[in-house]
Amino acid sequence: MYPSLHLYINGEFIDGQGRKTEDVFNPAHNTVLGKLPHARTADLDQALGAAQDAFETWSRTSPMERSSILRRVGALIRERADAIARALTMDQGKPLAESKAEVLSCADHAEWHAEECRRIYGRVIPARRPNIHQTVVRQPVGVCAAFTPWNFPLSQAIRKAAAAIGSGCTLILKGPEDAPSSVLALAQIFHDAGLPPGCLNVVWGVPSEVSDHLIRSPIVRKISFTGSVPVGKKLASLASLHMKRTTMELGGHSPVLVFDDADIDRAVSQLVAYKSRNAGQVCVAPSRFYVQEGAYARFLERFVEAYSAQTIGDGLAPETTMGPLAHARRVDTMAHLVRDAMDRGAETKCGGERLERPGNFFLPTVLAGAPDDSLVMTEEPFGPVVPITSFKTREEAIRRANSLPYGLASYVFTESLSNARFASDNLEAGMVNVNHFGIALPETPFGGVKDSGIGHEGGQETFDGYLVTKFISEMSSPY
Ligand code: NAD
Repeated sequence: MYPSLHLYINGEFIDGQGRKTEDVFNPAHNTVLGKLPHARTADLDQALGAAQDAFETWSRTSPMERSSILRRVGALIRERADAIARALTMDQGKPLAESKAEVLSCADHAEWHAEECRRIYGRVIPARRPNIHQTVVRQPVGVCAAFTPWNFPLSQAIRKAAAAIGSGCTLILKGPEDAPSSVLALAQIFHDAGLPPGCLNVVWGVPSEVSDHLIRSPIVRKISFTGSVPVGKKLASLASLHMKRTTMELGGHSPVLVFDDADIDRAVSQLVAYKSRNAGQVCVAPSRFYVQEGAYARFLERFVEAYSAQTIGDGLAPETTMGPLAHARRVDTMAHLVRDAMDRGAETKCGGERLERPGNFFLPTVLAGAPDDSLVMTEEPFGPVVPITSFKTREEAIRRANSLPYGLASYVFTESLSNARFASDNLEAGMVNVNHFGIALPETPFGGVKDSGIGHEGGQETFDGYLVTKFISEMSSPY
């Protein structure tokens, strides 16, 4: 059963009641799962008012209370993981095991934020005179607005909700209209965990209309967005017009450097697993492969063999290893990228076309020799298409890897400490992985450089975007 869909404002779950609704589809069959109510302007204003009122008290609650609510959130996510994961697969498409892993990782995020929010420290600055006391305190910024995408609907939502709630802020969250079930399950969990009304509000609508209304509102002090670079730039420029803080987790086009001396079998098995995840719809998916000449032919052959051996289908079927793309427009984008690369001389080693059946399926595709200026090498593919090309020297590999405006994740496979060090020092990326995939844990900072974004989620940095720094200088009477 797919759950019914609501707005969540001021502690109440509100259904359609004459509001405009939007169909939510199962991308494996293109059948309608449910109807999602859009917030009216009055609903958005109610959410703004509720978040503002709630901030008055929530910002003054003790970190211990915030911590214990986040702990309960973590426990409830674990308790409800099976049902949340099932609905997530139905509206987003990823295989059930991946949905379950996503849900459980969100429990980790809630629990880690529960611990870390008790450690939002200030500092004391030694003064120049004995009766002066200088302190720096960090206070919650205020009402926040967050916009989260459909590729990891729950995990993108919990990162923002846990950081905002843990720091003492209140939040209006516009989740992904394409895959809303897990975000509403999260709202229910915060509700059941005892979060006071108004601290978290969940709204839906036409993304540009909702974001425009919320960002322009003087009540909102901070914007957090995860999504594409063009949309991020649009929202960041509107936020800057109104002098609002932003956290921007935007797209990437992650280079993979495979050196001659790498353990090729290990590299292939890890890269196939990571690239197949969520059918490649991951902002940190390995997406531009540069393989050193001596290993190129061997790597290409083994990668094609392993990557094309996917069982594609409905994510609820236990044998499925790769589900559908989240919506039809992604399938069109994949076909366009392949066509462009082939027109420019690339060779399709496997896949290259959609699966002719209902649902948004595209075959795992490997393109050999796509030139550096082809679309697939320059624009984030966000799907199951892998361009593989060769390089001669490590300097050349770094130059080509750094040639795009993106700077999110990067991957290096080598057995040489010197190559590993050279690559990690010189890659322009917010995150570098050597010989494995080790990012997006709650305790590690996640974020990009260049066009890939501003700020971090996770790690000690997770609360930075939700806090303002206040300096207090006091003069006491001499004693
Ligand atoms: P898109 O650019 O239309 O939308 C991306 C996301 O932003 C969606 O969740 C959408 O609802 C939201 N959005 C769009 N316009 C908005 C606005 N004006 N205000 C607020 N939110 C808005 O692209 P798409 O086809 O949905 O997704 C594909 C692209 O999005 C990919 O190429 C990828 O770059 C990017 N993406 C990135 C991430 C990430 O984790 N960084 C996640 C999902 C999508």
